[in-house]
Amino acid sequence: MKLPPKLQASRKHLVALRHDLHAHPELAYDERRTSDKIAAFLQARGIETHRGLAGTGVVGILRHGDGHRAIALRADMDALPVQEQNLFPHRSRIDGRMHACGHDGHTAMLLGAAEHLAAHPDFDGTVAFIFQPAEETDGGARIMIEEGLFEQFPVDAVFGMHNWPGLPAGQFAVHSGPVMACADQFDILLKGHGAHAAMPHQGRDPLVAGAALVQALQSVVSRTLDPLDSAVLSITQFFAGGEAYNVIPSDARIGGTVRVEDAIEAAMERLCAGIAAAHGVQATLDYRRGYPPTVNAAAEAEACRRVLVELVGEDNVRTDMRPSMGAEDFAFMLREKPGCYVWIGNGLAEGGCMLHNPRYDFNDDILTLGAAYWVKLVETLLQAA
Ligand SMILES: [Zn+2]
Ligand SMILES: [Zn+2]
Repeated sequence: MKLPPKLQASRKHLVALRHDLHAHPELAYDERRTSDKIAAFLQARGIETHRGLAGTGVVGILRHGDGHRAIALRADMDALPVQEQNLFPHRSRIDGRMHACGHDGHTAMLLGAAEHLAAHPDFDGTVAFIFQPAEETDGGARIMIEEGLFEQFPVDAVFGMHNWPGLPAGQFAVHSGPVMACADQFDILLKGHGAHAAMPHQGRDPLVAGAALVQALQSVVSRTLDPLDSAVLSITQFFAGGEAYNVIPSDARIGGTVRVEDAIEAAMERLCAGIAAAHGVQATLDYRRGYPPTVNAAAEAEACRRVLVELVGEDNVRTDMRPSMGAEDFAFMLREKPGCYVWIGNGLAEGGCMLHNPRYDFNDDILTLGAAYWVKLVETLLQAA
C-alpha cells in the first residue's frame, strides 16, 4: 500500500487521538468535548474553523490555489447509549455510553487528512471538513443543512466513509447507486374496551387484535412489493396490560421499523383498518419517515473507485457488495449534493466486533489508510494544474 510517508508517521498520534475520543463518548448533540477537541486540532494546524451548526457541529475550511472547485468530506462524532464490555485501557470512561459505531475512528481519520492537507496542500480549490453531530438518532446532517451548511460553505460534491466490520482491513467497498436503506418508524395504537378476564364478551380485546395484526403485518413485504425489491418490516415493541392477570386491557401499542426505498405505509394502513374492524377495536397508525435511502451518484462513485484502486489495488476494492439495510443520515447530504459514501474494511467481526455491539472497537490499523483515502481523493478531484 502506497501511503504517504508523512501520514504513516502520524499513525501514533492519530491512534492516541482515537483512543481519547473512544474513552470519552458523547451522545447526539452533546458532543461538546469532542467538538472542542476537533476545533482545537484544526485551529492548531491553521485551518479556518467554524462552529455552531446543529449546536456541536464543526466545519474546517482549507483553501489552496485560486481554483473555484470545492468538495466536502464528512465525519460523524456521536456515540451510542451502550454499556461497553471491552476491558482494554481506552474503554469508555462513561457508564452507558460507548463509541460502538466507530465514529471516534471516522473523526480521527478526517482530522488526520486535514492535518496532512494543511501541511502539504497539493491541490487547487477548497476542502470543507465537516464534523457532524447526532448521526445515530436524529439526523444531525439534516439540521446542519437546514441551518445553512451548504449556503455558508458551497461545495460541488460531498463524500462520506464508514468502517465496515466483516470487510477485511485494507479493503474498501464502493456502491454505484443505493448503499444504505431508509429507516422509518411506526406506532400503532389499538383502542378496545377493558373487561374482566373471565368475562371477555363484555369487552373488546386489543391484545388479541394486536396479536393478529403482528401476524398480518408479516405479509406486507411479501405481498406488496415486487419480489425483486427488498424491504424489512420489523415489529420491535408490543405493550399491553399492567400487573393484573385478570384484567383485559383497554388498549395496546405496537411499534417497529420499516427499511425500504418506497414506503409501504398504505398497505399497513389497510391491514390496521381491516384487522381492527374484524376485532371490533380501533387502530391508529402513526407512520414517521426517518432517514432517506443513501444513494451514491454514479460519476462520484466511479471517481472514488478509481482513487481507491490507485490506493489499494483492484483486488482490494469491492464493487459487488450488497447495500445494507442499515440507515445513514449522510443520505440528507447526498440529497443536496452529488457524492459518494464508501465502506472501509474494519477487519473480521470476531469476538463481537460488529457495529453497535458492546464488544466493538474501531481498528487502529486502518486510521492512516482512511486518512490516505481522503487525501488522495482531494488531490485527485481538486488536481492542481
Ligand atoms: Zn451506528
Ligand atoms: Zn455509524
